[in-house]
Amino acid sequence: MKTAIATVSIAGDLREKLAAIAAAGFDGVEIFENDFLAYDGSPRDVGQMVRDYGLEISLFQPFRDFEGMPEPQRSKVFDRAERKFDLMGELGADLVLICSNVSPASLGGIDRAARDFHDLGERAAKRGIRVGYEALAWGRHVNDHRDAWEIVRRADHANVGIILDSFHTLARKIDPESIRSIPGDKIFFVQLADAPQIDMDLLYWSRHFRNMPGEGDLDVYGFMRAVAATGYEGTLSLEIFNDQFRGGSPKFISVDGHRSLVYLMDRVRRAEPDIRLTSPEMPDRIAVSGVEFVEFAADEEEARELGTLLHTLGFERARRHVSKDVDLWRQGEINIVINTERDGFAHASHVVHGMNVCDIGLRVENAEATVERAKALDAEPFDQPVGPGELKIPAIRGLGGGLIHFIDEQSDLAKVWDIEFQPVADKSTDKRGDKATSAGVGLTRIDHVAQTMNYEEMLTSLLFYTSIFETEKTPMVDVVDPAGLVRSQVIENAEGSLRITLNGAENRRTLAGHFIAERFGSAVQHLAFETSDIFATAAALAANGFQPLEISGNYYDDLEARFDLDSAFIEQLKQAHALYDRDEQGEYFQLYSPGFGEGFFFEIVERRGGYRGYGAPNAQFRIAAQKRHMRPKGMPKY
Ligand code: MG
Ligand code: MG
Repeated sequence: MKTAIATVSIAGDLREKLAAIAAAGFDGVEIFENDFLAYDGSPRDVGQMVRDYGLEISLFQPFRDFEGMPEPQRSKVFDRAERKFDLMGELGADLVLICSNVSPASLGGIDRAARDFHDLGERAAKRGIRVGYEALAWGRHVNDHRDAWEIVRRADHANVGIILDSFHTLARKIDPESIRSIPGDKIFFVQLADAPQIDMDLLYWSRHFRNMPGEGDLDVYGFMRAVAATGYEGTLSLEIFNDQFRGGSPKFISVDGHRSLVYLMDRVRRAEPDIRLTSPEMPDRIAVSGVEFVEFAADEEEARELGTLLHTLGFERARRHVSKDVDLWRQGEINIVINTERDGFAHASHVVHGMNVCDIGLRVENAEATVERAKALDAEPFDQPVGPGELKIPAIRGLGGGLIHFIDEQSDLAKVWDIEFQPVADKSTDKRGDKATSAGVGLTRIDHVAQTMNYEEMLTSLLFYTSIFETEKTPMVDVVDPAGLVRSQVIENAEGSLRITLNGAENRRTLAGHFIAERFGSAVQHLAFETSDIFATAAALAANGFQPLEISGNYYDDLEARFDLDSAFIEQLKQAHALYDRDEQGEYFQLYSPGFGEGFFFEIVERRGGYRGYGAPNAQFRIAAQKRHMRPKGMPKY
């Protein structure tokens, strides 16, 4: 199947749009008449420019208010159609979209509309043009693809077919299964769009909030399965009206769009094995069994500071790389790598971002297959020369400039710590002088990795992770920062062994916004470690000299009232500087390190019962405490 995208979906002038669309790997474009009108060039120039980018014009649109007109308007719309056909001839477009009439002057009646389409089909046939009819969800007489199909069926003309648009069908909750009875060769074109479930006027929802398949809440997958079952083999095209996308980077939005289509076709191919779908083959979504490591890029001084903090958190500097300035800190199953090399990726990352998480290692069943799938979904593979005795670990570039490495059990990769690292032998005489041994505090594994980004980048991240890995997204929640809103959404797998929280900042005065502004881009802002006993961990931390983030006393007064907790328990929480939350399934305890660097921090959590959340109601108290703590170091005052 060919892929296309409507020029209206992305920002830029026509040339910029075409360049981005071609680079993202699409086969064609829908030319929106307004994009063409705004461009200073003849229709022939535009057609040539499209072809010069290696693209085809898959569709010209829209032609409005055509069917069901009484005279004298009826003759006029046919004249108007002839002029558009002229234009299409010069552009080199052979398919036009006619959306269902919204004019108050139009008359209803399936047969009347069918007659109009038959007559138009006659005229179109003379020019080798095909006409596709789309039911707008807010059409005056036709707002349902089943009626549009009936009109096309009765028009009974080879040059007249139906155009399906997932938004118009799904927004009105029309069962997509009804598509299965349409013959595939009478479907001339398929437009795909998703949208977040918002209860609002259909037209407004459609014009401003559409997004890429998989980014919203509509069942675009069910829609596409039904389309595939008809035998349709034409183009799949994205028609996305979204204010944010139109203000965003044409390059990145195009890549997201292409990824969304490839992912959707992959899902459909797996669900409907009898259907011939010419989409790229790839391994199925990759199950992740855990985070194998998190790597920081740092200079020596930062590494010392981070090491000191890890030490008080109960980590032990366990191993050192055989040939590089790279240390492995360990506790439970948690591997933290600190890389102070003066070249290679970590160093480059440090030069741009300062100390930061430059790399995450995920445990997967098959690392090569993971990279293969990621590449098929437009992710960028990563390679750097490996030194003697080092393993070549499959990797891709993540979002925000970091890397993601994949470790599996099928190869030597699982033994990377033994092969590339050696135990820190004589800890007392170590040249770094820090105490390398420490009493553990009961941290067992990474509970979640929290990534902070601009709000606009959240959909990109969401699609990236859910398309490559076997994960689902949770609903978005708002986190209140005193300086503005931060949106939060989670990518997680069923077992909870991979949890990535995405925080989208709308402005740079929020703690999250400050972090990305100072760091020049999105990145991991905190790591949460799991303990099975928060109070025992808090006591052990205190014995190690760890200074937790201090939470205001008012928080605990409020907590007592909110959850009806007894005062001894509240006192225990207060002593531990622990935050508390509860849902129907269980309880959640959190405590934090103070921020360091440009606002990075560690969190320690305990989940009791089946608590599935992340303590979102507590975030505002945590943020206020962090801001109090950071202010002397240059946080802006409010
Ligand atoms: Mg449409
Ligand atoms: Mg957290």
